[in-house]
Amino acid sequence: MQGDYYDGLTSRRRRVAVSVVDGDLIGEGDGASFRWPLKGVRILAVEAGLIRLAPRSGDGRLVLDVAEWEAATGLSVRAARRASRNREGRLVVWLAVAGVTLAVGIFVGIPMAARPLARATPPGIEADMGRNMASQLQVALKPCTGNPAGQASLNDLTRRLTRDVDMPFVVRVIPVHAPMVNAFALPGGTILVTDDLIADARSSDELAGVLAHEIAHIEKRHVMEAVLRSLGLGLVLDAVVGGGSGAGQQAVLLASSFTEQRYSRTLEREADERAFELLAANRISTAGMAAFFERLADKTSPEGVNRAAEWFATHPDSGRRATAARALAKTGVPAMAPGDWTAVRQMCPLSPNKPKPPWPLRR
Ligand SMILES: [Zn+2]
Repeated sequence: MQGDYYDGLTSRRRRVAVSVVDGDLIGEGDGASFRWPLKGVRILAVEAGLIRLAPRSGDGRLVLDVAEWEAATGLSVRAARRASRNREGRLVVWLAVAGVTLAVGIFVGIPMAARPLARATPPGIEADMGRNMASQLQVALKPCTGNPAGQASLNDLTRRLTRDVDMPFVVRVIPVHAPMVNAFALPGGTILVTDDLIADARSSDELAGVLAHEIAHIEKRHVMEAVLRSLGLGLVLDAVVGGGSGAGQQAVLLASSFTEQRYSRTLEREADERAFELLAANRISTAGMAAFFERLADKTSPEGVNRAAEWFATHPDSGRRATAARALAKTGVPAMAPGDWTAVRQMCPLSPNKPKPPWPLRR
C-alpha cells in the first residue's frame, strides 16, 4: 500500500510504499526509510477514511487508508481504539485507587500503625526528635534554676524509679516555669514538670506518682506513639531532617502542639498500672498518686476545676483513674527525705510576675 510519510523535522510530505514484514511496519521511498515494530505503533487519529500513525518513540508520522491498513495488519481500528480507551479508563481508575489508598494510609493507616511504628522507631531517632523539641520548648518554658540540690534529689528519685526498667533512654526530669499544673514526657526520655505542679503537690509521693506515670509512657513508647498518631509523619520527617531546610519555625509550632498532646484512655490506663508497679518496686506509697488525682478531679472546688483542666486535657479519664488509684493504693516509705523534698520545692521560686494562662480554661 501507499502512504504519506512526514519525518517530523520538516513539513515535506513523502510518498512511501508501506508493507508489514515479520511484525514490523516498513516504509520505503522518496528518500525516506523507516521500520516500526507494529506492536508499538500508536493511532493518533482516524478520520475521512484515513488513519494517522506514529511510532512508539520518535518523530515520524504516517497517513494510510484505513481499509488498506486493516487488511495489511489484520487489526481492527475500532477494536484498537476501544483497547486504548480501556487503557485510559484503567489508568483513571488506578489513579483514583492510588489516591484513596494514600489518603487512607495517612488518615487511618498511620494512626492504626502508630503503636507498631512507635516500637520500631530506632531509639536514636526518638532521642534526636526529643532534643529538637526540648530546645524549641525551652524558648517558652524556662527551666527552674532555684536550688541546685533539688535537681540532685530529683535525679536520685528518677534513678530509683527507672532502676529496673529496661529501656534505651536515660530519663531526665526538668522542672520548668509554666502557667499550668502538668508534666509531660518528650520523645527520648525527657520529662518536663511544671512549677505549678511541684507547688501543688502536697508530698514527694504525689510527685513520684506523676513521674512514675510519665516514665511508664516513655518506657512503653507511648510518647512516640502519640506523636505519630496526632502529628503524623511530617514531624518524624522534620525530626530526621533536623533543624535545616527551614524546618525550625515549623518545629516551634509542632512543639507547642505537642504540649496539647493527648494520650488515649488505653495508654493512660497502661501508664497508671505500670506506675503502680514502679512505685511498689521501690516501696513508695501509691496513696500519693491517688490523692493527687482525687484533688485534681474534685470538680466541687473552683481551684480543683482550674487546676485540673490543664492536666486532664492531656491525661484523660480523671474520675475513674482517681478511683482506681485509690483502690490500689498501698502505703510505703516516703519517696524523698523531707530535706530533699524541700530542696525540690525551692527549685522554682514563685515569681510575682508569673504569666497567666493565655487560654480559656475549660470547665
Ligand atoms: Zn499520661
